[in-house]
Amino acid sequence: MAGASGYGALQQPGGGYGASQSPVPLYAANTQAKPGAPAASSSPAAPLNADQVTDAMMAYFAQAYLDTYFPKQNVPQLRVGKKIPYELVSDQGMEAALKKQAELVYERLLKGRFDLNMPWVEEKLHLYYDSDKLGKPRPYPYSKANPPTLEGLDREEKAALFGALKSGRFTDMSGEAAHTVAFFQRPDTPGATGKMFVRKLAAEDPTSQSELAGTIAHELGHAYADANWWEFYDIANAFDLPLIEKLTEGIATTFEEKLSRAWWDQQPGGTELPMIGYRNDKDIMRLGPEFFKILKQAGYEAYFGGWIKVGNVNNVANTIIVGQSKTRWSWPWKAKKSGAK
Ligand SMILES: [Zn+2]
Repeated sequence: MAGASGYGALQQPGGGYGASQSPVPLYAANTQAKPGAPAASSSPAAPLNADQVTDAMMAYFAQAYLDTYFPKQNVPQLRVGKKIPYELVSDQGMEAALKKQAELVYERLLKGRFDLNMPWVEEKLHLYYDSDKLGKPRPYPYSKANPPTLEGLDREEKAALFGALKSGRFTDMSGEAAHTVAFFQRPDTPGATGKMFVRKLAAEDPTSQSELAGTIAHELGHAYADANWWEFYDIANAFDLPLIEKLTEGIATTFEEKLSRAWWDQQPGGTELPMIGYRNDKDIMRLGPEFFKILKQAGYEAYFGGWIKVGNVNNVANTIIVGQSKTRWSWPWKAKKSGAK
């Protein structure tokens, strides 16, 4: 049954995928051109059915997450294994969706600052009013009795705060829209599921199935993060905990690497090994493994199970409580020296 949190149990009809699903190679679901095989002629292989391919890929990796990280127990209240709604989008649709996603991310980041870290907001607004951008510094219009509010910002103030948020920030949308095969849009509310956007042309192209597999393995990693992980993530972001965004990418990349290779092992010979999306980002590549090496089981409990919280927002780095054992954890990663991105 669905709990108060709104999560459905894993095996509910229409909810998760059946546990007995056999790990057949995905391509078996499609009778069209066999990916991986050399093209018989110079004409391009016929496109696959994008919906069938995406459905099968999502189902495969949903089950792979359960089998890999929860081999024994059925764990209700977790997102892992759930069917994540997706939308197939055109190239233009992907561009628009990514643009919207970037807006949502920065709106959420800014809201986090207003909710949790007003000193940051005031500092940046002071910088903005002190700058001589418009010829001369202007008086700071706010006071204790009249503090800035998110709703009350004018366009210029908001732009200044967005600029401060964006400077040096890494986000998932930093890649070019033209190369994005799929991305996951976080749910707005803790109980919701979120949604994946998948580029239709990539799904139906027989030559990009490895890329699709790697991307879906990665994006499901985001989709299966517990709501409490996202809450921790938002708090960590509001206080600029170093590398929090890259850690989250690193965790998804850790799953991507393991699961997409397992997928590849089942494919016909000649299938390309899925390439890791963030393979060139050294921080992302090291942070996921470091996180699980340090925290071990508690790391999985924190990420998938939501066993993570902050004891004191005035000292986030040193008051993280993690795992079912409720162990105190100090954030081990430091900010890079200036010049780092
Ligand atoms: Zn990601």
